[in-house]
Amino acid sequence: MRSRLQSVQRALRMNSKSMKTQVLDAKSNPQAGTQLGGRIIRDGGLVVFPTETVYGLGANGLSEEAVLRIFEVKGRPQDNPLILHVCRKSDVRELWDTVPGKAQLLMDVFWPGPLTLVHRKTDLVPDIVTAGLFTVALRMPKNKTARALIKAAGVPVAAPSANISGRPSPTTAQHVVEDLGGKIPLILDGGPCEVGIESTVLLLGSPPVLLRPGAVTKEMLEAVIGQIELHKSLLKPLCETTQAASPGMKYTHYAPKAKVIVVKGSPKRMAGRVLELYAMFGASGKTCVILCSSQSEPFFKGKEYAILGNRDEPQTLNANLFSALREYGEKADVLLCEGISAEGAGLAFMNRLLRAAGYLCLDADK
Ligand code: AMP
Ligand code: MG
Repeated sequence: MRSRLQSVQRALRMNSKSMKTQVLDAKSNPQAGTQLGGRIIRDGGLVVFPTETVYGLGANGLSEEAVLRIFEVKGRPQDNPLILHVCRKSDVRELWDTVPGKAQLLMDVFWPGPLTLVHRKTDLVPDIVTAGLFTVALRMPKNKTARALIKAAGVPVAAPSANISGRPSPTTAQHVVEDLGGKIPLILDGGPCEVGIESTVLLLGSPPVLLRPGAVTKEMLEAVIGQIELHKSLLKPLCETTQAASPGMKYTHYAPKAKVIVVKGSPKRMAGRVLELYAMFGASGKTCVILCSSQSEPFFKGKEYAILGNRDEPQTLNANLFSALREYGEKADVLLCEGISAEGAGLAFMNRLLRAAGYLCLDADK
């Protein structure tokens, strides 16, 4: 098997950037795209598809060789496990060794949707999917194109975000073309992703542990299954002792080309500090863009800024964060970003923003 995998690796290296990438409008003609995509996945190839969170780069999750292609095309380290996507709740029975009561309750409420659950795997799941862990992450997405594709493929679909590793996750088909054009045969274009950040990841156990915050918030989960723990590193860098819980946490994510600085604090002080930094970087010839909430816009009139959304409804900020990091992270030298309270969907916003900033965060109240 090893030599076969090595030859796939060699072939991929030689062929990278030589493929024609077809982009199909999944909204106007859903059948054609998902049927073709299903065939490609069954044949061991890769298909990019829309989900409600971000675009996914999918392959047959039961095929070691097909999954290896995902790691190669993304440049993803092989110790970062993948999520398997299913189109029916009953599919979990083949992939987890048991279905815990809490998992069933959460699946009943949040599936299909942006919640990934991690539990002990069966032997059907190849080790390459889980990076050798004895658990596997499963999700049933809400997006209809995603589910139709998984159904057409007839297998669980392993799919990380469809970006080059380390770049902000793609929320439009155009973002995918920028990163993976010429490396994959097919992109199903379903328009902009409504959630805009990756799924919530919950490790089932006693107690369950939130490994990655998302649109399904801690409060929403606790309303269904009682108390859960937050992983220690959601808002600060991972320390060595906590690495085992979720290997993906140790990689710097979402880093745009620009330097990213987060400024938090009461609105007036936050804005004052942002304006000081804007002037300071400007004086040294650096271009800055401010990423802020609609509430803070009046402070930044006359400067270069972009509104991400309403800070009282953090899901609106989440929906625009990655596309803003891509767009302004290319144009500016420095992005000055308004931090918000890490509650509700704000926890996911601050998690992604702080990782994009390499945890560089100033508290204007101190
Ligand atoms: P991505 O594919 O980029 O959305 O990342 C998937 C996330 O889920 C990564 O942070 C992984 O570390 C995490 N993950 C996937 N499988 C497992 C698992 N078996 N145990 C813990 N975390 C996992
Ligand atoms: Mg990703």
